[in-house]
Amino acid sequence: MAKTYKSRIRLWHVEIGYCPRCNVPVRGEKCELCNSRPRPLRFHDMGDIRPASAHERELFISLIPRDARGYFKRRIILLARQPGLDYRKDVYVDGYKVGIMEYAHRDGWHWRFIPTGKGAALLLNFAEPEFTLRTAGHLKGKKIQKEISGEWALFRAGNCAGVAVRTPSGVKVKDIFCHAVKPAKKSQLEDAVRANVSYLEKIEKKAVSMIKHSGAKYVAFSGGKDSEVALYLAHLAGVKKAIYANTGLEFPESSRFVKKFADFLGVELIEVRPDRGFWDVVEEKGIPTKENRWCTKHLKLAQLSKFHGVLVDGTRRYESFGRMRRTRTAKLGNLKLIYPILDWLALDVWLYIHYRGLPYNPLYDMGYERIGCYMCPSMLNAEFHNMRSTHPELFKRWYEYLRKQGFTHDEIMDGVWRWSEMPAKLKEIRKS
Ligand SMILES: [Zn+2]
Repeated sequence: MAKTYKSRIRLWHVEIGYCPRCNVPVRGEKCELCNSRPRPLRFHDMGDIRPASAHERELFISLIPRDARGYFKRRIILLARQPGLDYRKDVYVDGYKVGIMEYAHRDGWHWRFIPTGKGAALLLNFAEPEFTLRTAGHLKGKKIQKEISGEWALFRAGNCAGVAVRTPSGVKVKDIFCHAVKPAKKSQLEDAVRANVSYLEKIEKKAVSMIKHSGAKYVAFSGGKDSEVALYLAHLAGVKKAIYANTGLEFPESSRFVKKFADFLGVELIEVRPDRGFWDVVEEKGIPTKENRWCTKHLKLAQLSKFHGVLVDGTRRYESFGRMRRTRTAKLGNLKLIYPILDWLALDVWLYIHYRGLPYNPLYDMGYERIGCYMCPSMLNAEFHNMRSTHPELFKRWYEYLRKQGFTHDEIMDGVWRWSEMPAKLKEIRKS
C-alpha cells in the first residue's frame, strides 16, 4: 500500500544505517566498530548523502551560535540534497537532521542555516536561548510577539527547545522539540571508514569483478570523485588506459589532478580535445543552458565516441534525477559503456576514497560539488559566486562574455542565463 502511494508521487526513500554508539554511518548489516545493529537514517532518494567537505564544514560552523561551534568541529557532518533552486541540503549530525543549510535569495544571495527543533535542542546544550516563552503547546507555525536579532533565534518554552524565524509577516515558530537531546560521542570520518571496512571491500570486489568480466579497455576520467573511483577500480581490474576528454573549459586544478592521479596509478592517460573549441562553437549554437547542454555532446561525448571497445564510466544513479533509471550498460557510438558504481551513494565514494587513502581533486574542499567546466549551466549559483574568490580570472571571462550577450549584472548573478525557460521560482525571487 505504502509502496503504491510512494511510486505515484515518485518519492522514494533511501536508507542507510547509523550507529548511535560510535556516532558513525553504517552501510553494512553491522557496525564494525562495536558489532551492534545500526538504526535507520532515511532521506529523499535524490539526497545522495555524503560527508560535508572541508569548505562546507567551515561554512556550517560559521552559521551556528559561537558557543556551539567546538562541538560540531569534532563530529561527522552528513549532507543530503533537498530539491530547491540552488544549494539546499539537509544537515545530519549525530545521526539525525539538525537543520537545513542553503544558499538563499533574500535581499541578495547569502548562506543560511535553519535548525530543526531537534537541532535547536542540541544547540541549546551549548548556546543560550534568545528568549523564553511560558507556554509550549501547539506553538509550531504560530506567530509570536518577539523581536529577534538575526534571521532565526533559539528559544525555550517549558521543557521544549524551539526555533523562531523572521518572515515578511513577522516572527514565527519554525519548529519545536520537547525531549532532551544529549551530546553524542566524538567521531571523525576515519571512524566511519573503520565501521565499514567489510562493506567497502564487498562493493570493491563486486565492481572489480564486473569490470574484469566486461573486457574493458578504457576508463573515462574527468578528475571528479566518481570517475576517480571508477578509474581506481578499473586499475585494480587490470585496465591500463584512461581517457580524459578535455573540454578546454576545465578548472586548472582538474587538469592537474587528472595527470597526477593517472601518474599515481601508472595508467596511460589519453587526452582528447574537441575539433572545434567552445568559444568558436558558442557563436553558432548560443549559450548552453540546463535544457540545451549541446556542450556535453560536442565537447565530450563526440570525442569519446571515436573509441572502440568497452569503456568504464563512473556514472551513479543517485547523482541526479536523469540518471535514476540508468541500466547497467549503454552504447555510445562504437563504445559499450559499463557503470560499475551505478548504485553507490556519494557517501560510499567518499568512504572508499578515504579507505584507500586516495588523493582527490582539491576543488571539493574549495566549495565545489560537481567537477566540470567552470561555466557549466548545471553549476549552482553558490558555486558560480564562489568562483569570484577562488578563480577570479575564469569568472571574469565568462561574466564579460555574458555581458556582451546582453545580460545585466543582476541577471548574471541570479543565474538567469542558465535556463532557456526561467523557472517560476526564480521569476518569483527576482520580483521580490
Ligand atoms: Zn558502533
